Amino acid sequence: MRRIAPLFLFLTACPPAAVQRIGGLPEVPPVPGSPARDFACQLADQVGPRLAGSPGDAKAVAWAVEKMKELGLSNVRAEPVKVLRWERGEAAAEITAPFHRKLLVAALGSSESTPAGGLEAEVVRVSSLDELRALPDERVKGRIVFFDKVMERTISGEGYGKTVDVRSRGALEAEKKGAVASLIRSVGTSEARFPHTGNMRKAGIPAAALAIPDAEVLRRAVQSNQGPVRLRFSTTSRFAGEAESANVIGEVPGTAKPDELVVLGAHLDSWDLGDGALDDAAGVGVVLELASRAVERPLPRTVRVVLWANEENGLKGAAAYAAQHVAEAPKTVAALEVDSGAGRALAVQYNGGPQAEAAMQPLAAPLAKLSLGLAADSEAGGADSGELDGVPLLHISQDNSRYFDVHHTADDTCDKIVEEELAHVVGVGWLLTQHLAQPGVDLGRRPLPKKP
Ligand SMILES: [Zn+2]
Repeated sequence: MRRIAPLFLFLTACPPAAVQRIGGLPEVPPVPGSPARDFACQLADQVGPRLAGSPGDAKAVAWAVEKMKELGLSNVRAEPVKVLRWERGEAAAEITAPFHRKLLVAALGSSESTPAGGLEAEVVRVSSLDELRALPDERVKGRIVFFDKVMERTISGEGYGKTVDVRSRGALEAEKKGAVASLIRSVGTSEARFPHTGNMRKAGIPAAALAIPDAEVLRRAVQSNQGPVRLRFSTTSRFAGEAESANVIGEVPGTAKPDELVVLGAHLDSWDLGDGALDDAAGVGVVLELASRAVERPLPRTVRVVLWANEENGLKGAAAYAAQHVAEAPKTVAALEVDSGAGRALAVQYNGGPQAEAAMQPLAAPLAKLSLGLAADSEAGGADSGELDGVPLLHISQDNSRYFDVHHTADDTCDKIVEEELAHVVGVGWLLTQHLAQPGVDLGRRPLPKKP
């Protein structure tokens, strides 16, 4: 068994970034020598981008298997998952009238390519799906729809959920009205020129995201009343058939109830523009540190780490895990998924059956000591754990005020992870893990239908 290296090793390997204080929040209590950031940086720096089915994805699987073995986990394996591989190719956009101006864009995941050489059409600007739906078809037919919907910065990150519909459904809705392409203002909060990618429902027309400053150029062009705004757009993105990926799994066997499982999960894949440091190497780092703590201090129930494949553009890993392990679902006490960036913990949410509240109550006081709330929430959980049939889900809300500056962009690199903030999430995760791994702690079953 390999012990966690002493603090000074991490300090030399991964100097902590300056802690940026956030107004109104209490101090983050230090967790000395937390290796979570170091694990995350290794994945982000040494593997880098790892879109499902890409060479980087295969490298990430190998890295995770090796890392789990090194940390002393048992039954380490890569369970094969078939994924649909999407390749970005090139993308370019340019205003051609009433003036010439190149714009920075990134194709959206699942976008088809434009015809060779690209397409050129007049732009119609809308600020929401509803505004598009209200337009007569002849105002849209043959044009490029520009969704100019602004995401609000909040600590909870809820602005993302309110804005992302134009990314996921925009192309589909624009196609229904006869548009030839869909461009969106990036669903993010950074004013830097980093287009924000992400998945969309497959449509018959190509789609891309404009960097926010570039979306604002296009808005001003439309609002300048200098006549119709025309745009040339090309992308060579495409689906490249099926490929092999894997969920990487490792365990710390329980000392008293080895058949009862606590699942700690994060996703191993990432978007291709950046290093996927916050999304989701940070979550991988957290669950690996939790597992290595369990290796050092074994718990009565088994702790199973699941690093899901293909969260970003298919959820094939989560579906495969849920199907292959359905027989274990009744014995899975709860699942904690960590996929909310690297900001400090703010609160804990959970769900389950009627007994869940009483089962979680012993955590209320220790969490309150850390100024963290604890609340039942039927929506708690994440995209991957949401596939688990009836398993109670836990969620650690994190400070998302800066997350959407870098999420899904080329700027998602490890320097953005503040060691103390990620260690704070580990501290909370360890409280949860220790509690859930005690025999008799029973949250019942989650009754609600699976999240879409
Ligand atoms: Zn993620």
